[in-house]
Amino acid sequence: MQLYNSLSHKKEEFIPHEAGKASIYTCGPTVYHYAHIGNLRTYIMEDVLEKYLRFTGLDVTRVMNITDVGHLTSDGDTGDDKMLKGAKREHKTVMEIAQFYTDAFFSDCKKLNIKTPDVVVPATSYIDEFIRVIQALMDKGYAYESGGNIYFDTSKLEKYYVFNDFKEEDLAVGVREGVEEDSNKRNKADFVLWFTKSKFDSQELKWDSPFGTGYPGWHIECSCISMKNLGEYLDIHCGGIDNAFPHHTNEIAQSEAYLGHEWCSYWFHVHHLNTNSGKMSKSKGEFLTVSLLEEKGYNPVVYRYFCLLSHYRKSLVFDWDNLNNAVISYNKIIEKTALLVNDNSGDIDGTEYDRLMKNFTDALDNDLNTSLAITALYDVLKSETNSVTKIALIKEFDKVLGLDLIENAMKANQGEEIPEEVLELVEERKNARKEKNFTLADEIRNKITALGYEVRETRQGVEIRKI
Ligand code: AMP
Ligand code: ZN
Repeated sequence: MQLYNSLSHKKEEFIPHEAGKASIYTCGPTVYHYAHIGNLRTYIMEDVLEKYLRFTGLDVTRVMNITDVGHLTSDGDTGDDKMLKGAKREHKTVMEIAQFYTDAFFSDCKKLNIKTPDVVVPATSYIDEFIRVIQALMDKGYAYESGGNIYFDTSKLEKYYVFNDFKEEDLAVGVREGVEEDSNKRNKADFVLWFTKSKFDSQELKWDSPFGTGYPGWHIECSCISMKNLGEYLDIHCGGIDNAFPHHTNEIAQSEAYLGHEWCSYWFHVHHLNTNSGKMSKSKGEFLTVSLLEEKGYNPVVYRYFCLLSHYRKSLVFDWDNLNNAVISYNKIIEKTALLVNDNSGDIDGTEYDRLMKNFTDALDNDLNTSLAITALYDVLKSETNSVTKIALIKEFDKVLGLDLIENAMKANQGEEIPEEVLELVEERKNARKEKNFTLADEIRNKITALGYEVRETRQGVEIRKI
């Protein structure tokens, strides 16, 4: 498989460190709020990557952290503590917030058919490990104490800016509004490994350490959790593109300083999902969630399908029209699959099976081109081969795509009646039209579309049809 590697800025053949196996580390969510559908785009694409590697026969182990301590509002170790902010907002303790939003995250993942990684580690459960690695970095001369905190000394590295050629003076630290430059740092790019002299007097979670009572920086958690669970050589490290700098750059710095050799071979970065009004922001509280999609009547799996229609290395704009188009095309696939599922006559046509399967694997082998993989699915539905062959292929494809294709096709065959919810909306829309409130009528039509139905005015009255 060819995979784009952010380190080399090109597609490379994926060759795992140990033949037949693949280790993947994923930066987990910061659990101070719900995950937004942008965050979930990243987890969906990472899930497809994991599932495809398994599909190709590799024995995959995937590890993820849960950030429940240490992540400040600026990724450059300044600003407020995100967890503390969440706790204050909801008048709860940090651990209550962490538990609640961790559960909410996995519940969203389940609805999107995102497999839970093999190992999930909350950062607060690994404090001893962080202290051990920070101590080792101190002993090796890569870390120093200043103003009570422990910092990583980036000047000790041969190369710090690994993904892009940043310049020291371009570093945003100290430039952001309301963020003061940390005068304890020896070099601008240095970052905190352990905070003791925190400006947050009310910091709830603190631990004793040889460096004083305090708490870890954000970056060290991923290095330690990865190295402890996946060893000294990591195959693929994933995350959203915003994590490349400084988070992943700092992870590389400290892991390689600690290990004394190269650490991770492939860096897989998913580009952002934006709205027409710009970036979705968890910290500002302005964002779309899976629950909101459900409230509007969308099946979360359709959002997964919407994400698969675009390549992970392109930023993606979310808007309701695009999602509605995805609903229409998803339902078409289901409708066509529904016509095949009960037809068991004949045997699998091996030649056609191999040809159509190759379309699918060629697409994903080419840097996980999911939109071409969906085209390969259409090719199956359009092909002249028999139903048994088609269904066998769709079942296999769905191991990677995770779109509930067979389940939903079977449901469609059970002859669902028009749901009560749709009938009520149709009634509301009739009234809105009577009152000449066409904006409301259009909004209601969108809701009906989201539920997978189409409403039309005909001479005979209103016609409701499944899309
Ligand atoms: P966080 O919970 O903020 O630590 O982020 C969780 C994951 O979502 C990280 O991998 C981020 O890089 C990623 N992420 C953040 N914002 C977006 C976005 N708008 N689109 C896609 N991924 C994002
Ligand atoms: Zn991370």
